Amino acid sequence: MSINAIPSRGRFVNSGSGPALQPVDIGHSTYMGLVDADTAFWSLVRRDKLGVILHDSAWLKSYYKKRESFRKEMEMLRFGLKPSAVYFNITERCNLNCRYCYIPENMRRKGKHMSEEKVINALQLLKAYFKKTSGTALLPKVIFHGAEPLLNKKALFNGIEKFSKDFTFGIQTNTLLLDAEAVSFFKSRKVSIGISLDGPTGKIVNRTRASWAGEGVFRQVNRAMELLKGYDAWSVICTITTENMQSLARMVSYLHDNEVPNCLLNVVRCTLPSARKIKPDDSIAARYFIDALEKSYRLYKKSGRKLVVANFANILISILAPTARRLMCDISPCGGGRSFFALAPSGDIFPCSEFIGLKHFRGGNIFKNGINNILASNAFKLVTGRKVEDIEPCRRCAIRHFCGSPCPAEAYEMNGGMDKTGAFCEFYEEQVRFAFRVIADGKQDAFLWDGWDKGTKETFIIPGTRT
Ligand code: SF4
Ligand code: SF4
Repeated sequence: MSINAIPSRGRFVNSGSGPALQPVDIGHSTYMGLVDADTAFWSLVRRDKLGVILHDSAWLKSYYKKRESFRKEMEMLRFGLKPSAVYFNITERCNLNCRYCYIPENMRRKGKHMSEEKVINALQLLKAYFKKTSGTALLPKVIFHGAEPLLNKKALFNGIEKFSKDFTFGIQTNTLLLDAEAVSFFKSRKVSIGISLDGPTGKIVNRTRASWAGEGVFRQVNRAMELLKGYDAWSVICTITTENMQSLARMVSYLHDNEVPNCLLNVVRCTLPSARKIKPDDSIAARYFIDALEKSYRLYKKSGRKLVVANFANILISILAPTARRLMCDISPCGGGRSFFALAPSGDIFPCSEFIGLKHFRGGNIFKNGINNILASNAFKLVTGRKVEDIEPCRRCAIRHFCGSPCPAEAYEMNGGMDKTGAFCEFYEEQVRFAFRVIADGKQDAFLWDGWDKGTKETFIIPGTRT
């Protein structure tokens, strides 16, 4: 008779096959985080009760029952998604020369437009691809993106017109060509509109965003904001650099005064060397960023009107209801090449716009290679295969599935490999700690879109904790 080895039954925290629960200092006076990093399960535990909870077999048993479903949910999000969106660059050219742009200067200055015929042809190929792969009733999304899509206006408008039943559309624009006619066209077709603005005054904006001749854009952006007031599908992207971080809280007030419904306060992507020159220090940028978030909270309390800071809202959602997240930089592997990809004006496809201009990340050409082949290319695998488990120190970081260790383009170009962190680690660390403090204080709804929790439910609640 043979005697089989019996594995641990997982009765105890942090030994055998019990859950690996890491206490996390979130900087709160009452609560600490308790996180099972692999499954992204978390709990907020009173600081003075941490030992009791870790020893509480009823609590552990109850969590243990749920662990598998948490693990499966994470597995699906990380490895089970198919592309549902495309960032479509219909021109290489731009009428601005922003200091941190990820598109190389010679492309923006002298590059080509994609012809109207090719834009229509590409949309046709995308439509056919999504028809085969899309498993949901939701239409796939096409976002016309940088350089400046409105420089190729006729192709842009005709593309939207022809495929209005096949895609939902969005556009990211610097607003210089966003006139009343364009706004009315986009509004009538429910196109979501993102505009870029880096500060609450012309002087601040001029430091990073100006024309090739050095002329400012503040007046034009304000004119566009006037045209967009009252539309529910518009947002402002503000890129955080050394040049504007001190004014982030003022920026939030400015956007709120202008009735902007959503904004993104993104730290500058440091893929190209020019952007690294204006990279802020992580901890200083985090301090200003958190000040700005607190300002948005106070403005909401005073006025009853929200300005949602979407990138922070996404972090909160990644903690509260991971499957409801809307942005894909803060999950590992990130969304690049996995839940979306980027199409360049030449027809070349890259995992994300961030890689346009980096030839070794070109997966193939939409007109020649077939989208499925491109998604399976080695160039794409480099990005889609980058996992927090392979990165030091992320692999042992308790918040790795709320941060995602962005961005692979930065890791590769700035730090020398996919197994490196990107440009900002401490910034993301502080952002997640603040998110937990917001949850500990029960303030999360003030930072989130109304109705964010429709269709989601709290998965695990125990007394003395907030989950
Ligand atoms: S982390 Fe970088 S490569 Fe990934 S989706 Fe975000 S910007 Fe794109
Ligand atoms: S980048 Fe920093 S905060 Fe993010 S997972 Fe890695 S170690 Fe953690």
